Amino acid sequence: MIQDRALRPTAKVLPEHIRLNNRTLVLQTLYRTGLQSRADLARETGLTRVTVSDLISELMGENLVIELGQRQEPRPGKPATLLDINRVAFQIVTLDLSGHTRLRGAVLSLDGAVLSSSGVELSGARGEAAYEKVAALLRQVIAGATAPILGVGVGSPGIVDRAGVVRNAPNLGWRDEPLQARLQDATGLPVRVVNDANAAVLAEHSFGGADHDLLLVKVGHGVGAGLLMGGRAIFGERFAAGEIGHVVVGTDDGPLCACGKSGCLEAWLSVPRLTSAIQAATDTAATPEQAELATDQILTEAGRRLGIILAPVVGALNLLEIVLSGPPELLDGVLSAATVETILSRTMATETGELTLRMTAQGEDIVLRGAAVMVLSAQLGVS
Ligand SMILES: [Zn+2]
Repeated sequence: MIQDRALRPTAKVLPEHIRLNNRTLVLQTLYRTGLQSRADLARETGLTRVTVSDLISELMGENLVIELGQRQEPRPGKPATLLDINRVAFQIVTLDLSGHTRLRGAVLSLDGAVLSSSGVELSGARGEAAYEKVAALLRQVIAGATAPILGVGVGSPGIVDRAGVVRNAPNLGWRDEPLQARLQDATGLPVRVVNDANAAVLAEHSFGGADHDLLLVKVGHGVGAGLLMGGRAIFGERFAAGEIGHVVVGTDDGPLCACGKSGCLEAWLSVPRLTSAIQAATDTAATPEQAELATDQILTEAGRRLGIILAPVVGALNLLEIVLSGPPELLDGVLSAATVETILSRTMATETGELTLRMTAQGEDIVLRGAAVMVLSAQLGVS
């Protein structure tokens, strides 16, 4: 598929690459469809029966694939043996560090189901103290796993580079924190650290039925976004792709932002800003009807501002799917309606007429589940 290749490829293709690629193909097919015979897999992947059988022996040796009995077939002859990923042989441990006051951790199945979870209050810890909290939580979650751990995935706020170094996370007081390497040394397990919104977009893709081109906007204490194009996460030159929170919306200033500028998207849309604005409007309203009207105005304005930021992104990338993650009582309703209306009114109808904007169904576990996708993808090549 020529369109999927990057420009100017320079890497040499080695036999071990081909073998790894074939192994990934087989695992991915089993992960998504389950219960296949060797012949099914050969047909599905285009690999020869010999190659498939050889790979299956290897994967069974690693306990990654199991035989699950024989297919009931009306035809005479030897029935085919059905195979599947051994979905209970391994578990995944993940952490979500994006909560403003609470860090969360969970053990997940290979299918992304949360089997157990726990958390710890951040209690204002920063820098090394915040790292200690993270390491202690990770030890606790690992101790709760009931099967060998495939790997550890972590969704962190802030800018995270490809080596899992948290370049900058103001809430945790981290600058150039080599989180991935430190947690890997501390646990002896493979660890992947990514930005929380980038983790969230992977959860939406793998478990939320999203398409290959997708923008996920995560609204919490801050505002960030994760972008998937052609099934690939986009990180950007400085690993800050999707950092739309501190982009100024419009030319009319607006509320003062924590970063010092006025009218950043975050200053319009973050959860603390919306809840305090709604609280203030409710306190001064004379009647419940007036309070409701004022609340709708605040949410509509925030939705409109989000639409203004997203319209050029939607237009430039020809995106048709946008997912919102955050408190549904704030985002789902007049706010998202105003966002869609604004995007549609600012882009060409022929290109964005089928645009859908919806709330995620992944709920509060979205980062935990997305971090599991990072591990599945890194360790097995499946997602
Ligand atoms: Zn700002």
